[in-house]
Amino acid sequence: MKRFKFIFYILAMSILFVGVFWLSAFLELANANVATITVDVAPARVSMSDDHLKASHSAYQGIDIVTLVKEEPDYQLAIHYPKFGDDQLNQAISDYVSMTKTAFFEELEANKAFLQDQPASFYLLFNIYPVVDDVYSIVFSNERYLGGANGEQSSKVFIVDLSQDRFISQLEMINDRQENRDRVFQLLKEEFEQSEDYREFFFLDYLEEWAYAGDQTYENVYLTDRTLVFKFDKYQVTAGAAGSPEIKLPFVKVMGLLTDEWVKKLEVEKKLTDEVKQDNGVDQQGSSEEVKIDEDIKKIALTFDDGPDPTHTIEILRLLDEYQARATFFVLGNRVDFYPGIIEEMAEQGHEIGNHTWNHKDLTTLSSKEILREVEATSKAIEQLIGEAPKLYRPPYGAINDHVREVVDLTPLLWTVDPQDWRYRDANKVFNHVKANVTDGSIVLMHDIHGATVEAVEKILAFLAEEGYQFVTVSELDS
Ligand code: ZN
Repeated sequence: MKRFKFIFYILAMSILFVGVFWLSAFLELANANVATITVDVAPARVSMSDDHLKASHSAYQGIDIVTLVKEEPDYQLAIHYPKFGDDQLNQAISDYVSMTKTAFFEELEANKAFLQDQPASFYLLFNIYPVVDDVYSIVFSNERYLGGANGEQSSKVFIVDLSQDRFISQLEMINDRQENRDRVFQLLKEEFEQSEDYREFFFLDYLEEWAYAGDQTYENVYLTDRTLVFKFDKYQVTAGAAGSPEIKLPFVKVMGLLTDEWVKKLEVEKKLTDEVKQDNGVDQQGSSEEVKIDEDIKKIALTFDDGPDPTHTIEILRLLDEYQARATFFVLGNRVDFYPGIIEEMAEQGHEIGNHTWNHKDLTTLSSKEILREVEATSKAIEQLIGEAPKLYRPPYGAINDHVREVVDLTPLLWTVDPQDWRYRDANKVFNHVKANVTDGSIVLMHDIHGATVEAVEKILAFLAEEGYQFVTVSELDS
């Protein structure tokens, strides 16, 4: 009977299916168990989506940081921006990022003749400030240098409410009434006139014009958890030498400016009576057990720049652990701020953590003060997490000169083998370059923010381990 045969067939297939399903589930479980013995962060091979992995590592719940770094003969760029779980929010950010990028490339095209030995540079950075639950201020700074003596700078503020997946406009927070305009003008005037940084560059008439503008939107005003901040672009109310000024006003001074809804939301009254608790109980991580360095064995230092990354760095950490390999991570301060747990994990596994500055700017183009700001903030963030400040730094783009050496109190460290993984994003190409160029004592440059690099690392570890290399940190290479 045909019909019977058919039913039997369906039944057999179902049993087979269920069997395969259980077997694969069992294997996955076994796999996950093995993995948890060696690493106690979620290993990538457990079937968990990238997004899930990332979100669980970010210090800013529901937000990740994206980094793009590029280096060409006539320009270099470093772009950093936040990524949310919501497509519409991401679209608005990505529109802004593309707009700034397009504008830079147009300027670059127009200014090509004026670029001498110094390449043009474009930096899009942001600061993130938690305000209240699910509300963050994202403050972008767009900085461009195109050959002239002065760079261009502009800002853009996004205030995001993740509980509603929408951006909040400043006019929802600030009551734009006539008496408030007077109050804003008076408050800012006082602050500018008293500020050591700004007073000699300040133009009162520009501020007045801004304060009473017909279409006042308070577009670059943002909140932190305790202050209302007025941010201005370069040249907007001060001379260029003042840069892009910021006036921070504590809630106690601006209560009358805020809408009732926001006074309540920000718990302004409660915060005014609260004591400031600024106790950062630093959890000191003990360093892991010493691994003996054998003097007779060939050594190699793998180094990774531009991370940490909540997906790829963790995969690399797992691979390194499999081979009992140590490496050195030159991390970006702005990403350390997002993923502190990964830095702790690195230290726990005995890897070395070096400083790659906060925003990946070309240090040779900065003033001493700016250089220190980029380096010191990063060292401080690392020290707070692992109880030890980095000894080494790697200047972004490998750009260094006597001025930078003089200003920075850390040891600069470049590399000897550069497979240009960020450019090719091709595991075989990277592996072949490393294979062809390493010798005892090599320092290999890679970037732990690309998927292809993870694959390359797997091949490199397998090959070099077979060749008898020991994988050490940069400091161990020296010792
Ligand atoms: Zn870099």
